[in-house]
Amino acid sequence: YESKTATQMPNNLEAFFMPFTANRQFKKAPRMMVGAEDMHYVAADGRKVLDGTAGLWCVNAGHARPKIVKAVQDQVAKLDYAPNFQMGHPLPFELASRLAAMMPEDLDHVFFANSGSEAVDTALKMAIAYHRARGEGHRTRLIGRERGYHGVGFGGISVGGISGNRKQFGAMLPGVDHLPHTHDRSKQAFTRGEPEWGAHLADDLEKLCALHDPSTIAAVIVEPVAGSTGVLIPPKGYLKRLREICSKHGILLIFDEVITGFGRLGKGFATDYFGVVPDLITCAKGITNGTIPMGAVILRKGIYDAFMNGPENMIELFHGYTYSGHPVACAAALATLDTYAEEGLFERSAELHGYWEDAAHSLKDHPHVVDIRNLGLVAAVELDPLAGKPTARAYDAFVKCFERGLLIRYTADIIALSPPLICGKGHIDEIFGTLGDVLKEAA
Ligand code: PMP
Repeated sequence: YESKTATQMPNNLEAFFMPFTANRQFKKAPRMMVGAEDMHYVAADGRKVLDGTAGLWCVNAGHARPKIVKAVQDQVAKLDYAPNFQMGHPLPFELASRLAAMMPEDLDHVFFANSGSEAVDTALKMAIAYHRARGEGHRTRLIGRERGYHGVGFGGISVGGISGNRKQFGAMLPGVDHLPHTHDRSKQAFTRGEPEWGAHLADDLEKLCALHDPSTIAAVIVEPVAGSTGVLIPPKGYLKRLREICSKHGILLIFDEVITGFGRLGKGFATDYFGVVPDLITCAKGITNGTIPMGAVILRKGIYDAFMNGPENMIELFHGYTYSGHPVACAAALATLDTYAEEGLFERSAELHGYWEDAAHSLKDHPHVVDIRNLGLVAAVELDPLAGKPTARAYDAFVKCFERGLLIRYTADIIALSPPLICGKGHIDEIFGTLGDVLKEAA
């Protein structure tokens, strides 16, 4: 589409909005991106901005990669849309097989959604449908974690660990509990990798099982590393212990890998990184390298068999989207998976990890820095809060970095960094060098 304003600042900034507080900040000082290539955005004023965030944890292979662009262009010209209800087309089958081949054990069935939020709600429904199909219709309770983020559907905010988000909307899913989070700033300060302490905190799940009859609990959903709420890394052994408790009580374990999937931790998925295999995995973002919206749930064969091959076939999971397995999204995803594999980007993320870690920790003596956390090619730099203004320092750093040609992400007092996995050591130096300068000046 030849937009008249596609390369400049639009006249009307009020017509479109994102209803977050960021909207107000954006309207006051709009930062408009009009192009992107590899590691950089191009802003409306023509400046190149280094992408320290892979868009929003999506663009793991870098921006506008020719193979992915071509796949999208070719596919939209060949078969622009085909529903997956009464008829179908080959691409979701090919993509599902590719994803299944990346998974451990029998996680070999895939359902496509259009976002992370949809993938999460789908997985929660699947968990309930699975138990129902096995004659355990009373297993409907769901357990999330404090500080977990699982998108914005009613299911996602119900299990999500952001209580303000839940309170705002009142009508939540019934029978939802939240495990306390394991994050403890005083113990985690300046840790590298996984914190050594705290696997026993997984026993909070046993406490919930003692409180409710465990045979009423359908599923536990966790982000293996909580991304949006500040790159919170679980203590060593914590996820393994959760797995054991779930297995003991017949509770399904869901890993929400919307951020951790596709190489961010230096392995394909967090399940590989932590060596813990859940029953369902949700993913999105990096599945298409951010090009076309897509989410997916990858589940164990036994779960699929229960709700799809039982006597009441189909009825146990009344669920589907107009755009499930959209041909253009599938083409984008297949080209993305090719790119990850051909360029060895998951391995690259692991190889650069040491350099990334040292660069991140070079900020540890900077004013206001209270914690630095990192794994693979993701890091968080946590700042001490400014009294009464919990986002002030991080927002200030974000604005100043942008002025200097670096895009970072901030939530509350936490700055998150997650560059495309194609980044080089020079980019890493630039990310932490610029951020370090900005923090020093703010002291
Ligand atoms: N789960 C997690 C772990 C996420 O990080 C996000 C998005 N940041 C979502 C779910 C929701 O994804 P979407 O915004 O695509 O709906």
